[in-house]
Formats: sequence, C-alpha cells, structure tokens
Amino acid sequence: MNILYHPLKCSGCAQEFPFPSIARAYTDLPQAEGRSATHFSQMLLLPVWCHQCEGASWVERIPAAREFALAAGLRRMLGRARHEGIDDDLLDLDDADFAWLYQHLAERQAPPFCVECGSTRIAPIDTTQRDTGLLHEACWDSPILFHGFPIGSIGFRSGRESYAHRFHDVTGQIAWTRLQVQGFLQYRLGAVLEVRRDDPCHAVLTSIIRLIANGCSERAIAALAPLVDAQVPAALGLLGALHVLGEGVAHSGTAAAPLLEKAKALGNACAAHNLASLYATGAPGLAQDTSRARQLFGDALAMGGQYEPDDFYAQDDYTSMRGHFYRPA
Ligand SMILES: [Zn+2]
Ligand SMILES: [Zn+2]
Repeated sequence: MNILYHPLKCSGCAQEFPFPSIARAYTDLPQAEGRSATHFSQMLLLPVWCHQCEGASWVERIPAAREFALAAGLRRMLGRARHEGIDDDLLDLDDADFAWLYQHLAERQAPPFCVECGSTRIAPIDTTQRDTGLLHEACWDSPILFHGFPIGSIGFRSGRESYAHRFHDVTGQIAWTRLQVQGFLQYRLGAVLEVRRDDPCHAVLTSIIRLIANGCSERAIAALAPLVDAQVPAALGLLGALHVLGEGVAHSGTAAAPLLEKAKALGNACAAHNLASLYATGAPGLAQDTSRARQLFGDALAMGGQYEPDDFYAQDDYTSMRGHFYRPA
C-alpha cells in the first residue's frame, strides 16, 4: 500500500518528504509468456534520499553471495537463530521467495538505483539516526531529519483510497504497476499500467505512470492528452485504464472500452488485459460478459500480456475478481 506518513521532515520549513509505495515485487511476467512457473517475489528495500526525485525513496537491497550463503545456513536452524535474536530480512522471507532472490540476485553487478526513477544519485538513510546528514537546499540548507517509521496501524481511514503495487523485472526496473482504487466497503477497482521498454514514448509514459501511482492523476492526464491525440497505443490504453479506475476521469465502461479496444487493435497487450478485466467485472455502461472476458484474456496472453499466475486464467467465471466490483453510477 502507499505510505501516507512522512518520516522525513525539514527542520527549517517543516516540509515533509513521503516515501513512495513499499508494495513492490519481482516478477517474471509478462516476459515469461506462458511459462508455468511464474512467480512473484518480495523485494528487499533500503531507504534512501534520491537527488533526482528530490525526496525519500527506496533502493533494492542486493545481498552479497556471502550473506545469501550465511542466511541459507541460518534458515535451516531458524528456531535457534530467532532465539539468539538475529534480525535479518533474509530470514523473514518465505522459502520460495528466498530461493528466487538467491537465484536471481546473487550474480547482480549493477549499482543500486532509485526504484522510482532509476537514478543512481542517491544517499542512504541511516534509520537508527535522527540526523540524516541531508540538507534542504531550497531553504538555506536546513537539516532534514528522520522521525522514524510508525509501528502498527496508521489509523482508521475511510473514503476513496488508491494503492499502487509496482512489479519489477530481475534487473530492478519497473515492469508494470497494478493500481487499485477503493471506496470503504463500497467498491474496489483495479487496472494494470504498463509501458514496454521498446515503446518510442517509454520515458514520458513512465513518468506519467509514476504520477498516477503517486496520486497526481490530474497532472498525469494533462501530460497524457497530446499522446492520446496522437493515437499513441500505450497512451490510449492508459487513459482507458484511468476510466476503469475513475482516477481523475469518470469511472465509465462506456468511455474505457473504446479506448482499450483501440489500443489493443494497435498491439497493446496491457490494454487487452484491462479490457478483459473490464468484461469480467462489468462497469457502468458495460454489462459483465464472462465469455468475452475469456476470449480477451486469451488475446492478451497471445500478445505477451500476462499479469497473473497461470491458474488465474483457468477460472470458469473469474471468481478471484469478485472482490473487484464496479462503483454504481
Ligand atoms: Zn526546508
Ligand atoms: Zn528517484
């Protein structure tokens, strides 16, 4: 879920610097293209200051081969390790995630980068210290202080909330984002946001998805408009996804479907997946149609657009999507 608290604060102007969403996983998808052993693995993250984002962010924690070997040994005698008070995130992972990280990260050589923007202009934040050593240039270099991550619940909240879950490839780059919007006990809407690495508009669309994921939909829609006018496939698909979510635009099947259809016809696999999801749940102006959904999920897979484990696609009536229902108009 998105982190709504602000543990970094300037001691001069009191500006707060929120951390971006910690909900992140590695994924083999969609590159797996039908491979049966699709897997999502938890990411290990370290807090940093990113000079490119000018704010708090995260980098992947990539354990050294020695750390992996040590953790593998300790995991075999986990009870004893816990007893001795050893605190290590490599011991908290489940076995499948640990195995996946061991297999994919142990050989990684690339320097760590900000998982939001990809910049290597980052400074680690020592969360045992209040003084971060960071200075807020905008207000005469006032020190930026760390106020600690809160423990436990961040309190009861109601109303509309959005959650961005980012999925990264094995090199640490964001592959795609799942955005979920929900109204307390009323509705839950979801869509996948993606721009592929080989898209000519990759850079601008990536920054637009980052805006959406960080709750700045209005700015995102303004930036998207000229690309939609130019019929850029991923841009049409993104606007369609925003209509699925009702994020900055109307929640409308009537508006979403033609945009997603157009993007799909231009070869956008993500739009095909979102269109299938739309028919699986129905939306205002668009009746639920399970057989159409099945056909479209098949099209999406054939286009290389897989965003769920294999068993998702084998469902009779997409019961796993029952939690995603549309907001009554
Ligand atoms: Zn300041
Ligand atoms: Zn950054």
